[in-house]
Amino acid sequence: MNQSDTLAIVKPDAFGAGKAGKILAHLESAGFRVVATRVVRLSRTQAEAFYAVHRERPFFGSLVAFMTSGPCMPVLLRREDAVAELRRVIGATDPAEADEGTVRALYAESKERNAIHASDSPENAGIESAFFFAGTDRLLA
Ligand code: GDP
Repeated sequence: MNQSDTLAIVKPDAFGAGKAGKILAHLESAGFRVVATRVVRLSRTQAEAFYAVHRERPFFGSLVAFMTSGPCMPVLLRREDAVAELRRVIGATDPAEADEGTVRALYAESKERNAIHASDSPENAGIESAFFFAGTDRLLA
């Protein structure tokens, strides 16, 4: 299968706790290459736009407050079947339900403060990658 790209975000809980390096090492061990990364502090407007699909959910306000609470680290990742493989490697949304050895089982604090975001479809991977990396130099182009 051809190489494809997907977007991860090391969320403010994990980034603030100094777990970004371990999470990136975990993803590289799982066969992903880092295509691009940066450290950003999302504004409220950016977080609301990124999670707009959840606007009507009861946890939306709390999620936006969490995602703007400190720096986070978007990462553009590449491997075969990148979207599905990253979803598998990060585990279930709630770390209590995540398979052993997944990123969320290892590093997440709670269902909301769950260490990492991963795009859930190739279409969203394209949209979310452009959100953070449009116009960015990619040495692995
Ligand atoms: P994901 O694709 O596994 O990240 O999960 P979703 O797209 O369903 O939710 C987006 C994010 O919202 C999750 O990663 C959590 O940070 C947060 N979230 C999801 N469900 C809940 C919930 O029931 N309560 C709270 N407080 N946060 C949630």
